[in-house]
Amino acid sequence: MAKVAINLSTGALQQEEVIVGIDLGTTNSLVAYIHPEDKNAIAINDQGRGTIVPSVVHFPKNGEAIVGTDAKEYLITDPANTIYSVKRLLGKSYGDLGEHKDYFGYKIIDDDSEGLVKIRVGDTFYSPIELSAEILKELRERAEHSLKTPVNRAVITVPAYFNDSQRQATRDAGKLAGLEVLRIVNEPTAAALAYGIGIDPTEEKTIAVYDLGGGTFDISILSIHQGIFEVLSTHGNTYLGGDDMDRAIINHWIQENQLLADTVNEDKHLSQELRLKAEEAKKALSSQQVYIGNISDKINCHLERHTFETMIAPIVAQTIESCRQAMTDANLQPEQIDAVIMVGGSTRVPLVYDTVSDFFGKPANNALNPDEVVALGAAIQADILAGNRKDILLLDVTPLTLGIETMGGLMDSIIPRNSKIPTKAGRQYTTSVDGQVNMKISVYQGERDLVKENRKLAEFDLKGIPAMPAGFPKVDVNFILNADGILKVEAVELRSGTRQEVEVKPQYGLTDEQVEQMLMDSITHAREDVSARMVIEARTTAEQLLYQVERFLEKNGEHLTEEEITLTRTNLQNLRDALPTNDKDTILRAVDTLEEQTSPFAERVMQISIKQAMAGKKIE
Ligand code: ADP
Ligand code: MG
Repeated sequence: MAKVAINLSTGALQQEEVIVGIDLGTTNSLVAYIHPEDKNAIAINDQGRGTIVPSVVHFPKNGEAIVGTDAKEYLITDPANTIYSVKRLLGKSYGDLGEHKDYFGYKIIDDDSEGLVKIRVGDTFYSPIELSAEILKELRERAEHSLKTPVNRAVITVPAYFNDSQRQATRDAGKLAGLEVLRIVNEPTAAALAYGIGIDPTEEKTIAVYDLGGGTFDISILSIHQGIFEVLSTHGNTYLGGDDMDRAIINHWIQENQLLADTVNEDKHLSQELRLKAEEAKKALSSQQVYIGNISDKINCHLERHTFETMIAPIVAQTIESCRQAMTDANLQPEQIDAVIMVGGSTRVPLVYDTVSDFFGKPANNALNPDEVVALGAAIQADILAGNRKDILLLDVTPLTLGIETMGGLMDSIIPRNSKIPTKAGRQYTTSVDGQVNMKISVYQGERDLVKENRKLAEFDLKGIPAMPAGFPKVDVNFILNADGILKVEAVELRSGTRQEVEVKPQYGLTDEQVEQMLMDSITHAREDVSARMVIEARTTAEQLLYQVERFLEKNGEHLTEEEITLTRTNLQNLRDALPTNDKDTILRAVDTLEEQTSPFAERVMQISIKQAMAGKKIE
């Protein structure tokens, strides 16, 4: 295993380079770096446009995507082509969205599969990874422009509750933006680092990080010892934040003003302005007692802090309830918390600050800018990884990603590169064919999306899986990487207990130069790798849908009209014809058409079955 300092500082190309820290937020994103002379963390403000880049991507009819404040202008006027809150979709399948499907103003594709969501903009399909990559690219460009140097490496933050697939999606987005992601860091950990907590390895602390952003709230309780940050508990609400305060103000003004109430629904520009004014009022009330403004120069609107506080009291109360829950989960009392850190723009609201300080029984830390604190901490983490802080303990890390092959020859990473060792990670898989009794586990190392470009470490068959329909067996694959860098891979079929394992030494026969080369290749080929992955995923989706619809026609054709059957056959054929094009958009358009046309059928058949059941008839 390589030490971080050696591994990351070899290769002339990389020596002088700055490594940036990125806060990829739901509402706003920022990029920060460590100033080479005074060693302070600074959020980058390129061309005086401010440090905050709204996490909004707009696709104009012609031309390149627009990101940030300029894109935000289109949220109301062109919602179908303007994507916000994409972080909520990262690493998610349509099923994961549940009741929140209607929250989004743009088109999210429901392909009914377990696959990840896609967003349709005109005739093109985007994955949340590609959209996040647009935001990261903008941040990277701003950093390069402002620092006048190429930026190829970054540390990116994610919420502490992000799961494996959300973390992997964030890494992939970075890769697609041309960034080598040295580490994914938890947002609360970054916030603590920004306040200097956890930098001294002898320090032992328990802290609470309260993060109230635009549309999300989370509280994390961390324990810090020997420079290691452990998440004791997290709680929160992924649909609660400053936007809810804005909405409360809008409703209040609409109730007060008949003219507003009458016109706001028809007039898009008016409603856009109303939103902006509500946010302006909220921000103003963070530092003054009264706000007086007007909308379109004709409608007066005013608000007093006291009224505002009454309106938002339920929101604040909900966050405190989460804090209480997180403390219970961590088995701690408020007096056991050494420090409380405020993160997120909405913690500027005085009522929020006071209520949180009251709950924990001590003044919360808010000396740093709450918008910037996560990005600043990410920059500090980047600096540590670059080996610029000699006082910091360097832990052993694994230099290349370890994973297994999944459908279509794709690499599914289990232990991402730069993970501290020893470490253990795993994931559950299932069979793809009915009655499958063997499963091939192929272990690979490397950063490329297709296993054929990576290095094969081992392969074995898990035999003796009881014959079951596809999707039923549950196979746990675990990777255990010990402190000496030996990898043990074990696969267990949970229903039968069938087990098989293998041991390998991933670093055996690999020089530092070869490791560097593998990393470089993954950056050079990022774009083509992601496109190849997307084509494979689109094909898999299409093949599953073809199979489902064909079976449906066989079983339930009698409940459809002649026209419906003919149209379904045509759309099935169009989808079959789309497959050989190997163009993901062509394939997904055909999927979308077939899906939209056939989705009402299932409902209808169900109604008929219910009626038959009620009439005492036998159902199949
Ligand atoms: P996220 O982490 O979700 O991307 P941020 O931390 O950037 O979000 O927080 C954005 C929210 O902070 C917005 O709702 C914004 O209106 C709010 N905000 C920013 N400044 C202030 C302020 N001075 N007073 C109150 N709310 C503010
Ligand atoms: Mg945030």
